[in-house]
Amino acid sequence: MKKKMICLFFCLTILLSFTFTFASSESIKQKYIRDIIGTEVKGNTLIVEKINKRVLEVDTTGKLIWQKTGLNFPSDAERLDNGNTLISEYGSNRIIVIDSTGKIEWEITGISGPQDVERLDNGNTLITETLGSRVFEIDNFNNIIWEFTDLLWPMDAERIDDGNTLICESLASRIIEVDKEGNIIWLISNLSNPVDVERLHDGTTLITEANAGRVIIIDTWGNIVREITGLDSPWDAEYLSNGDILIVEYANERVFQINPDDEIVWEVTGLEGPFDVERLPNIPPSPPDITGPTVGKMFTPLYFNFTSTDPNADRVTYYVIWDDGTTNNWSPWQNSGDSYCENHTWYLPINYTILAKAKDDYGSESEWAKHEIIIPRNKATINWYERLLDRFPILFRMLRNFWTISL
Ligand code: CA
Repeated sequence: MKKKMICLFFCLTILLSFTFTFASSESIKQKYIRDIIGTEVKGNTLIVEKINKRVLEVDTTGKLIWQKTGLNFPSDAERLDNGNTLISEYGSNRIIVIDSTGKIEWEITGISGPQDVERLDNGNTLITETLGSRVFEIDNFNNIIWEFTDLLWPMDAERIDDGNTLICESLASRIIEVDKEGNIIWLISNLSNPVDVERLHDGTTLITEANAGRVIIIDTWGNIVREITGLDSPWDAEYLSNGDILIVEYANERVFQINPDDEIVWEVTGLEGPFDVERLPNIPPSPPDITGPTVGKMFTPLYFNFTSTDPNADRVTYYVIWDDGTTNNWSPWQNSGDSYCENHTWYLPINYTILAKAKDDYGSESEWAKHEIIIPRNKATINWYERLLDRFPILFRMLRNFWTISL
């Protein structure tokens, strides 16, 4: 009997060592994947429907998550870090910031045909005023900090890392890069109704040419390094960190994501006047809801359900710590919102706190959730344990210390 118990504890120790080693390598793998693809490749998507007069957010399945209706021909939208949404309302000549309930938190009026709007890192706001023929930057008190005027139908502007500003001057058929002093330091001309521009991390520039029906990436010298053609009035394009591009195709009433092999990997159709698109960062799943018994018996499998919902409708996997030195490594993938069942057996009559967390496809993890369970002593086992403790007191202390160190 003594030999069997010693053997059992050694086996348990070796098994636990493998469990923790595997958990460590899994997290490294997930981090690697996350670093490669970034967090915005498959988050929710913010879309401006100008004709339908709304801004909407959809998840990866295209399901409506949030919307703001009744807007007056919105032309651009951006989700801010605090969860509010910055919107350019072309028909009302104003820029607004609304909270998740639609309440206006900030507003600037009297802008003549606001098109693009961008919240800058310094907290100021960059506005493209199409009918006013200018691009300007204002602070929170509506003071003009910087402006560039006399533009021919500007459609888009972007502040880039070095403090310069890229401007899409649509009627002049060109993109210009302007420094802080107002000097044009770079330009690309002979474009066909350019409506959107974005400087990429490698120094190339992504341009949407509405009349040419194409989206191009050009290098500093104007050489085309990538071209997506055959589009019907493309109106906006956003580059994602894995090389995919999100494109708004106005006349085809859709937004879609195209990969470097020109395959469409995601799409939302049936939109009325789509005008702008933005991929939002991935959101981690909710902490798992743990349901199951709060009192159980020793040596008896007890069943628990773990349920987490991912705001992006991503798949989720669960990690469970049973509070007795054992863990369940990441579970098989489950659909968001589906319950996952696990059982566990305890062998000591004490109180335990089960800890569980969820992780989505992109490695974003939830907060921990916990569930308390009491395993009371019972007559059948008390004698057995007391005899065991009497016989192997040192072994029990070693095992207890091992659990404490591991956790
Ligand atoms: Ca997610």
